[in-house]
Amino acid sequence: LYVEHPLAHGQAVPLNADQAHYLFSVMRLATGDAVLLFNGRDGEWRATVQQSGKRGGLLSCSDQTKPLHLPPDLWLVFAPIKKARTDFIVEKAAELGASRIIPVQTRHTNSDRIRQDRLQAHATEAAEQCGGTYVPEVADLQPLDRLLGQWPADRRILWCDETLTSARSALATSPPAPWAILIGPEGGFSADEQKRLRAMPQVTPVSLGPRILRADTAAVAALTLWQSTLGDWR
Ligand code: SAM
Repeated sequence: LYVEHPLAHGQAVPLNADQAHYLFSVMRLATGDAVLLFNGRDGEWRATVQQSGKRGGLLSCSDQTKPLHLPPDLWLVFAPIKKARTDFIVEKAAELGASRIIPVQTRHTNSDRIRQDRLQAHATEAAEQCGGTYVPEVADLQPLDRLLGQWPADRRILWCDETLTSARSALATSPPAPWAILIGPEGGFSADEQKRLRAMPQVTPVSLGPRILRADTAAVAALTLWQSTLGDWR
């Protein structure tokens, strides 16, 4: 279970109504039962239920069961698509070890709004489900132009575009650096965006093969490619 509270030996952890509902009504835990907690900072801890109620409860931390495992410094920058597919991208990015998720508006992006809180909850649930000890932050929707305008000089961009031909060999020889994967919307990147990306020294243009993938498939494929070439499952 993800909690905001610090986790340490003997630490009391109060539960909010949602957490109490999940533990006591859904999971049917009772006083004395054990539960595993993480907060994204202190690793995973075993805790025992001290008090259980309908609108809250209290846990007590006993021992650490996993140290904190931080993902590699890899952002996923993507143009949000239909709601369910955007949810899917965020869930898979959290599972596949992105450290930060940034939805962007591009020239051909359909949606001009996202529910950041809802996407953050998806990332948290995905981390809980896969036994992670870290939750990637989901940023608010922002224009791609603005993001690129303040792009850090040392952060490389794996730019995925179906019009490109250079493949994974471009990645394999890259020196260690913080990275971001960039995935476009269903309509692809505009000519202006392509021109701008091409001109940035941080950009490594990469093709994900000869077929045009849906944006959600492309996100999973690119995360897999990066993780297996430069990430923490090399
Ligand atoms: N512009 C295209 C069209 O309408 O024919 C489709 C864009 S595709 C559905 C959405 C995004 O997925 C692209 O902007 C790109 O980032 C990524 N993508 C899809 N297929 C790809 C491929 N073969 N190589 C690299 N990126 C790809």
